[in-house]
Amino acid sequence: MAILHRLKQHLSALQPYLKCLLCDETTESKQLPICTDCESELPWLRGHCTVCALPLPGTGLICGDCQRQPPLFEKVVVPWLYSFPIDSMIIRFKHHAQWPLGRLLGDLLGHHVQHSFDQGLARADLLLPVPLTERRHRQRGFNQAQMLASSLSQHLHIPVKNHCLSRIIEAPAQQALDAVTRKKNLCKAFQVAPHAAVKGLHLALVDDVLTTGATAQSLSRQLLKAGASRVDVYCLARTPKPGTQLDL
Ligand SMILES: [Zn+2]
Ligand SMILES: [Zn+2]
Repeated sequence: MAILHRLKQHLSALQPYLKCLLCDETTESKQLPICTDCESELPWLRGHCTVCALPLPGTGLICGDCQRQPPLFEKVVVPWLYSFPIDSMIIRFKHHAQWPLGRLLGDLLGHHVQHSFDQGLARADLLLPVPLTERRHRQRGFNQAQMLASSLSQHLHIPVKNHCLSRIIEAPAQQALDAVTRKKNLCKAFQVAPHAAVKGLHLALVDDVLTTGATAQSLSRQLLKAGASRVDVYCLARTPKPGTQLDL
């Protein structure tokens, strides 16, 4: 054991810095496999709605939709726009099971959420990954939201529960549907387990991408009905409103 330990020490001394997963250059860090150039070039979300994080041309604004009808979730905490290279990093993690990318995204999200706490955002009591259907989970072999939640849990020291929520209706088939049909389906898509014990808790849903917010809305409705005191959303990336061209 001692020899193995020393061998490991030697190896890490020989290769003390990590390679950037995006440009393959040696990084300045021993902790995160991304270089400072690539990190600063990520599509950081700038002006956005303070509630649903929809990209907007200024800061401190609330989007029209949230003004007309505030969503049931309180706040979306999200570091990036869903655009290059974050979109392809998420796809490679999710559909090609590239764990190092998933770990990197989870670590960076952890830093971002912690930073929001430092700025005064209320900490959630419990993290709940957005579930996949059982069939999809079996096909993919893992749920990317669970992996992100477990990484966030380590960073933020907030517990995570994986089996409070279940999904009965598939998501991807819905992407082609119009907003009204999608909404109707989503009402029946999720279940909160009777043993969930969320009464009085401030919850945070964890997911990879927030698109229309309809999933978060539907889950929030059920969780608040089950007694949760507040629901936030922590996710990697936010899509702009369909059809809008952002001048970034
Ligand atoms: Zn790089
Ligand atoms: Zn909004």
